[in-house]
Amino acid sequence: MSFTAPFADITFLAKLFGLDQLETEGLAPELADGLAEAILEEAGKFATDRIAPLNRIGDTIGARFDNGHVTTAPGWIETYRDWAQGGWNGLTASVDHGGQGLPHLLHLACSDMWTSASMAFMLGPMLTSGAIDALAAHGSDELKRIYLAKLVSGEWMGTMNLTEPQAGSDVGALKTRAERTGDGTYRITGQKIYITYGEHDMTENIIHLVLARLPDAPQGSRGISLFLVPKFLVNKDGSLGARNDVRCAGLESKLGIHGSPTCTMIYGDESGAIGYLIGEENRGLNAMFTMMNAARLGVGLQGVAIGERAYQLALSYAKERKQGRALNTKSEGSSAIIEHADIRRMLMLMRAKTDAARAICYMTAAAIDRAHREKDAQKKKQAEERAALLTPVAKSWSTDIGIEVASLGIQIHGGMGFIEASGAAQHLRDARIAAIYEGTNGIQAIDLVTRKITLSDQAFS
Ligand SMILES: Cc1cc2nc3c(=O)[nH]c(=O)nc-3n(C[C@H](O)[C@H](O)[C@H](O)COP(=O)(O)OP(=O)(O)OC[C@H]3O[C@@H](n4cnc5c(N)ncnc54)[C@H](O)[C@@H]3O)c2cc1C
Repeated sequence: MSFTAPFADITFLAKLFGLDQLETEGLAPELADGLAEAILEEAGKFATDRIAPLNRIGDTIGARFDNGHVTTAPGWIETYRDWAQGGWNGLTASVDHGGQGLPHLLHLACSDMWTSASMAFMLGPMLTSGAIDALAAHGSDELKRIYLAKLVSGEWMGTMNLTEPQAGSDVGALKTRAERTGDGTYRITGQKIYITYGEHDMTENIIHLVLARLPDAPQGSRGISLFLVPKFLVNKDGSLGARNDVRCAGLESKLGIHGSPTCTMIYGDESGAIGYLIGEENRGLNAMFTMMNAARLGVGLQGVAIGERAYQLALSYAKERKQGRALNTKSEGSSAIIEHADIRRMLMLMRAKTDAARAICYMTAAAIDRAHREKDAQKKKQAEERAALLTPVAKSWSTDIGIEVASLGIQIHGGMGFIEASGAAQHLRDARIAAIYEGTNGIQAIDLVTRKITLSDQAFS
């Protein structure tokens, strides 16, 4: 069940699908002198040595709820602390906020290995990364000053709060209310469901990005605003103040990613949780899309990462398990099942599909980097459109591949694949959610057809 991060292959593919080109065109001069290789090797070591051993514990013990508190699985706090202290959380964030300003593609390639090691563990950092992007792009200078550095360092985690019982794919149906207080802040009241890492014990504060509706807002998605709602209020000097009026009412019991707490969040038991507007009133969905687009690519990568881990497990089993005699074999006795043509077919399919999905995700990240770094306005727009076009494809195709590859991994194990002890079943259970959250794959298809392929031809070049 062990996993070894394939950092040499990943380095090769990350360079092939964008890093080399960014560097040679002068868009990422910081990558000279083998920086990417060195970072990917270290990220791979952390994935193999520290995160991978957490995967099974996360699945079997999972996150636990008790009276509003959520406890993560044994070892998660310490590993997260070491990971954050290693500076891994801030790879792409601006140096102005304590980040390292490195390319998104490099971060995605590191996340590929960390997510293979444990998808449930990496969900918190993935969402924090999206919260950083949204806050950096749309937040006021004051909000950035107070919150960004701690999010970038990983001392605090971020969450994404869209879903409500009656508002899933149809975000415009949300009912959470925001009332102006008159002092520039807002009071938030309502219930959010399925909030990933909504409550946990891994960081001292949790920064919720919450979509809510003002009393005089227009109906539907044009009347939604985005608020920053901290678990603990933050004093002007950055120290933690009183507990805000937000709590976790329970955790979902679910098919997979048991290590990731999926929370029901209650805002405003008393006078309403204090929230701070991000961007403009009624333009919240626009700001949230910055976070969602980052998360969509991150979820697409989950398909790749699970595919990688399922492949490694199936390959190792296929070399050990002996059944029957392979055709054309000269050796005596039964053969390892890897010698059977059908097993080889399935292994090659797993490998090919995982790497094809990886290529699409990496190309999407390369387009995002180009969109951020190009000076030429025409080239910048072209890259933005390419990233917009590729994002729903990366999300939906890669997550479908993750499920298919994890299922093939079970098939290679035979009956043992259906038995939890093999670990193959966990990969399929974990992979299944990726086609559902961050906009179901059906919603991604609608986005691709109605909004993305109508972009200018430049997106396709
Ligand atoms: C483990 C987990 C973690 C999650 N984490 C978060 C989180 O951190 N933050 C958050 O805000 N949410 C989170 N979610 C919620 C997730 O994003 C939603 O479940 C998802 O967007 C789908 O919404 P829904 O469940 O209401 O399904 P529904 O919207 O009810 O969809 C049901 C089915 O109908 C289809 N459908 C719906 N509308 C259309 C349409 N217009 N056209 C065609 N087909 C349609 C869907 O594709 C789907 O197949 C999480 C969910 C889970 C299970």
